[in-house]
Amino acid sequence: MSRREELAAGLAVTRERIATACGAAGRSGDEVTLVVVTKFFPASDIVLLHELGVRDVGESRHQEAEAKHHELAGLGLRWHFIGGLQTNKAAAVAAYADVVHSVDRASLVAPLSKGAARSGRTVDVLLQVDLDEERRQGRSGARPDEVAGLAEEVLASRQLRLRGVMAVAPLGADPGVAFARLAEVAREVRALSPGATWISAGMSGDLEQAIAAGATHVRVGSAILGSRVYGG
Ligand SMILES: *Cc1c(COP(=O)(O)O)cnc(C)c1O
Repeated sequence: MSRREELAAGLAVTRERIATACGAAGRSGDEVTLVVVTKFFPASDIVLLHELGVRDVGESRHQEAEAKHHELAGLGLRWHFIGGLQTNKAAAVAAYADVVHSVDRASLVAPLSKGAARSGRTVDVLLQVDLDEERRQGRSGARPDEVAGLAEEVLASRQLRLRGVMAVAPLGADPGVAFARLAEVAREVRALSPGATWISAGMSGDLEQAIAAGATHVRVGSAILGSRVYGG
């Protein structure tokens, strides 16, 4: 099978899973955006994905994302930054990312705003929520009780547009329970800002549970591109 055929097959299966999950949840398929997570895969795969109709791609490492964005600037893709964000890289990320899913602390707001302003852009922002109430892992995301304050910080920036929330289901947790909690936090954010309607949740292993709980954006990598080889 050619790489193009492999990607086409992975996409077809994933799109079918999304359609089935939307049907089961009584939702329309066009309520859910598929963000294809291309981290660790070459720009040539993104070109093939674009030919196969993909318009939203997700990356999690700044240097890799910046290089691919530069190489593929002509394709008109929407770039989603989904990885942990270092404060000193935030301004640079805001120069190319259309959506930043991983805003988890107030200290990111000033550099993101600065980077966006410098490039004359507005950047869509999601607040990453830590759903691991038992703190089993290192923290990534704001605690649910910190999210409203963080939302206010983002709302005060003219360069950032608060769009909603994002989370990863904690390892070992029931994703259905985790995503239901995320939906509650999303409602709180929407109460502060009615336009903040996006819920980014669900990956290759749990997109069905995420869609059942109201996800508007699923971030799918390995089910489409295959296993990532790290450390290369
Ligand atoms: C890598 C990554 C994904 C994609 O994970 P898969 O299991 O390969 O689908 C989704 N979200 C985030 C935040 C990631 O880092």
